[in-house]
Amino acid sequence: MITSTTRRFLASLLILMGSLYRNKRTRRFTLIPILVIGLGFLLPQKMIIPVQGATIRDWDDHSFWAYPWGSSVTHKGIDIFEKKGTDVISSTYGIVMYTYEGGKGGKTVMVLGPKWRFHYYAHLDEIDAFPFQPVASGTKLGTVGNTGNAVGKPPHLHYSITTPFPYWWLRDKDAIQGNRKMFYLDPDTWLRK
Ligand SMILES: [Zn+2]
Repeated sequence: MITSTTRRFLASLLILMGSLYRNKRTRRFTLIPILVIGLGFLLPQKMIIPVQGATIRDWDDHSFWAYPWGSSVTHKGIDIFEKKGTDVISSTYGIVMYTYEGGKGGKTVMVLGPKWRFHYYAHLDEIDAFPFQPVASGTKLGTVGNTGNAVGKPPHLHYSITTPFPYWWLRDKDAIQGNRKMFYLDPDTWLRK
């Protein structure tokens, strides 16, 4: 599967539906999760730039899907450059799914927002969020840094958006790893207006 978040999300969904179905008393609720997912897609989304004070000039318009991009092959997000220590804020309302430290992302925060989109904030200097924390658009999640594989590079927020449900119409047969564009959404679509 495309990302570990996608894999975990779909696996938990199937496990939940499977356990509802196996139990006679709950069998008739098996499709409730599908209904809840449908409702999640109806939630409105209004996105803001996830770095305090940043403007559209603080990231390159070729940042998304830049190639070649080291071990990631293509760059599946945008890099918003700002001074170290600047607040990283949630681009939408949602729920913090996890915080993590280690690997390529360094200190990272994952937020589930409306429409089942997962918002990933990486290379943070400090994390200021906790799992299952409800957040509003603009809630502080941490600060801009250069942790993970950004060590030694100018501080920036790596921001990406993924969906566990493929947007098949975004499949790009001409791009490198173009199939993955069904799962990695371009933040520019909502941030650059
Ligand atoms: Zn990046």
